Amino acid sequence: MFVHDALPMRVVFGPGALDRVAEEVDLLGLHRVLVLSTPRQGALAARVTALLGERAAGTFDGARMHVPSATVAAAEDVAASVRADGCLAIGGGSTIGLAKALSLRQGLPSVVVPTTYAGSEMTPVWGLTEDGRKTTGRDPVVLPRSVVYDPDLTHALPAAVSGPSGLNAIAHAVEALYAPNATPVISAMAERGVRDLAAALPLVVADGSDGAARSLALEGAWLCGACLGATTMGLHHKLCHVLGGMLDLPHAETHAIVLPHVAAFNLPAAPEADAVLRRALGTDDVPAALRDLATTLGVPDGLRALGVAHADLARVADEVLAAPYSNPVAATRADIEAIVEAAWRSR
Ligand code: NAD
Repeated sequence: MFVHDALPMRVVFGPGALDRVAEEVDLLGLHRVLVLSTPRQGALAARVTALLGERAAGTFDGARMHVPSATVAAAEDVAASVRADGCLAIGGGSTIGLAKALSLRQGLPSVVVPTTYAGSEMTPVWGLTEDGRKTTGRDPVVLPRSVVYDPDLTHALPAAVSGPSGLNAIAHAVEALYAPNATPVISAMAERGVRDLAAALPLVVADGSDGAARSLALEGAWLCGACLGATTMGLHHKLCHVLGGMLDLPHAETHAIVLPHVAAFNLPAAPEADAVLRRALGTDDVPAALRDLATTLGVPDGLRALGVAHADLARVADEVLAAPYSNPVAATRADIEAIVEAAWRSR
């Protein structure tokens, strides 16, 4: 038996789709949106503001990784001062995370324009960081009302970010396939998403302005993000969350390094997921194919290449074991230590 509970999802997809943002804002009945971005994407925020015309009430370009509460408070002040009735977030998971915080705390609906492959736009998961502690939760109110995917905007995403970000997306699909709440719809999206990304990412990294490859990669990221939003993640996401939070590691690279190791541990216990991934990757050895893809994409070789000291690994298993999580096979302390050790050494 399965239960498929589809999340509402309005997606506008295609090169040049950014030109549609004003229409999307009008469809939602919004009149005064606050445009959100990181400092690095201020020029893009200015472009969106121009496209929105009088619908843009103000700009906040201070979005930061992990949604610090001080950043949210500063954005709330701007939203109040310009009497914003919604927001438009343009950027990666950090900027979309800020829009989600404003939806959660102020009820502001959002239109988002993702420019990485992280997939946050497809999930009802929010995160907030206060005094160095990140709290996360699920609430349908944070789901963007409209998502505008314009592959042209991803041409500027450097190769060193595109590869890990794409593997981060593939990790969502891998874990969705063996999630307790997987359904045939999820499996279909996961298979297509992994196939698209595995085909597109080497081309994207070789030539960031390859329009067809950028479109295929973003389409894959959308599908993998939708898998993330609809299912419960397992050991891989748990481990990356612990590693990232404890050791302040870069999100996408951590996923890209750890994924082949968790896949090697979990897939023997999840033969149906393994079969789907074999088809999607055109291989009979999924962990090896993921390792090869990471190598082709220039992902740092092992957690130690991210500057992690071996002594830091000892605490990781404790924290993974501290709270339950879903996984196709129970991982003992020794299993987790072995996975982390292998991921530290090399992919
Ligand atoms: P990010 O949003 O932090 O972006 C990284 C940097 O790249 C930023 O400086 C950004 O301005 C820049 N950038 C983004 N797109 C660009 C482009 N096209 N060209 C040039 N520069 C660009 O990174 P991310 O990997 O997208 O997001 C990671 C964050 O998202 C993490 O905090 C993670 O926890 C969160 N996340 C949340 C969910 C969820 O469901 N809530 C899902 C995935 C990720």
